[in-house]
Amino acid sequence: MTLPVSVLLRPLAELKEDEWAVAEITVNNYGEEPIKFLKIEVFGDIEMEKPLQIDALGPDELLSYQVRIRVLSADGVAVIKASKIEEGNVVEFMATTMRLPCISAKRTERKGFKKYAAYQEETCKHCQEKIYPGFLVVHCGCNAVFHHKCVQDFKCCPVCGRNWK
Ligand SMILES: [Zn+2]
Ligand SMILES: [Zn+2]
Repeated sequence: MTLPVSVLLRPLAELKEDEWAVAEITVNNYGEEPIKFLKIEVFGDIEMEKPLQIDALGPDELLSYQVRIRVLSADGVAVIKASKIEEGNVVEFMATTMRLPCISAKRTERKGFKKYAAYQEETCKHCQEKIYPGFLVVHCGCNAVFHHKCVQDFKCCPVCGRNWK
């Protein structure tokens, strides 16, 4: 059974690639039971500053919050996940994908890498430490994945040597 929750993300200003902007997130419980401890996260090509925690959402209740988001790739897709947490574990969740209109910051030249918020657990090919969902990552065209903080000053991929500039 999926969680009877719908989530809508609406920018409150024009979105520009790689810039933080304010957005409104609206969460609706369309089920018949109250939901306690709801966590809203955004993965993929949109980064949300921090996960949204909602202590209680009654049946038919609709709540709106202001959040800060950043579009990492103008033509990308965001994955929005709502999870019900009990004793620290996810007991039910729902995920939805959406695209937001965004102005591309760069020319349409192809880059050798992609930046996004991780949606699964991976290992950084630079420091060999874990990458957890929600971490900002750099994904090289060779399929190597890195923590963004590990390689943000690199001009080329430490695995395949491809130019990132
Ligand atoms: Zn790393
Ligand atoms: Zn590479």
